[in-house]
Amino acid sequence: MPADILFARWAAATMEQKNSIGAKWDRLLERLDIPSAVRNRRTAIKVHLGGGFGFTTVHPFFVRRLVSAVKAAGASDVFVTDIASDVASAVERGYTAEVLGCRIVPCAGEKEDRVVPKPIDPPYRALSEVRLASEIVEAEALVDLSHVKGHGACAFGGASKNLSMGCVDQWTRRALHGIEGGLAWDRDACTHCKTCAEHCPNSAISFAKNGTFEVFYHNCKLCQHCVLICPEHAISVVGGGYRFFQRGMALSAGEVLKTFARDAVRFISVLSSVTIFCDCWGLSTPSLVPDIGILAGRDIVAIEQATLDLIRTEDLIPGSLPPGWELGPTGHLFERIHRKDPYAVVEELAALGWGTREYSLVEVE
Ligand code: SF4
Ligand code: SF4
Repeated sequence: MPADILFARWAAATMEQKNSIGAKWDRLLERLDIPSAVRNRRTAIKVHLGGGFGFTTVHPFFVRRLVSAVKAAGASDVFVTDIASDVASAVERGYTAEVLGCRIVPCAGEKEDRVVPKPIDPPYRALSEVRLASEIVEAEALVDLSHVKGHGACAFGGASKNLSMGCVDQWTRRALHGIEGGLAWDRDACTHCKTCAEHCPNSAISFAKNGTFEVFYHNCKLCQHCVLICPEHAISVVGGGYRFFQRGMALSAGEVLKTFARDAVRFISVLSSVTIFCDCWGLSTPSLVPDIGILAGRDIVAIEQATLDLIRTEDLIPGSLPPGWELGPTGHLFERIHRKDPYAVVEELAALGWGTREYSLVEVE
């Protein structure tokens, strides 16, 4: 059975306040039935607050009104939360307790030392546990408020990435990145000529002090130039690749979701300022596509599917790609930019039983 996904279109039908996205936001929150999720519950609102010189995160206007809605719905407590470094610089983007109407809390403590380990059973590749942020584990209800954007390592960031990478500690983020893959290197065959690193068009290859070949998969586009150019045939493509990371992220998001009753979670994804890279890169770049709108619902798989379906290659804004970047030949816009299929994490979440890829868009006028 399809999941209902609410959709408030960013564009206004008429130039009246009541038809603007700010006004539709209030109506969307009313339709989301927040009281049944948060009443008498300690409620965490997980937002990626961004960093550095970035400013294209979810505007504080929306967060403030969401906080008000959660309070009005009878939550016993409400707070906004993110990883420690982003909380520390949140004021730069206009997020303060005074503006939002609630405190802003580092989800795993200021030193990222307040965590609850959860085993991944059976272990997935090198991932045998994730360390969940204690503020998330101790909360009783969750609003997953995500800003949708591209991502070099996994093609895009949305509702699931906001949980899998944003509700854990640095150790877990490293562990998840550690299972990224795509290229294999034959140490015995390599002569360390560095030809591969010099010719990688994306500066993704380096060599560690001990001579080990390393790939920064965020930048790697799996173009295979290094495979072809290596005179010793020391580099090859291995199956799985970035999908290992996608699977790991789905497992991590699942562990976060397991700490909540199923009716105590709401997902909201903001499809505006859809930039090429994640907010954690600390920079804002031109939007790839026109502002689309806001999605909301109870099914993480359906909202991720709907998110991707609404971002279309034909809507790419000319000049929004960095100089010299070219689209790949096929697939979703994010796949043509980052060379990784963004639907992979949706498939993984669905396979783990977290929802359905079938959805009905319910427009909020
Ligand atoms: S091009 Fe091949 S032989 Fe040369 S450093 Fe790279 S992997 Fe090693
Ligand atoms: S596959 Fe392409 S982008 Fe990736 S490391 Fe090799 S040359 Fe660089």
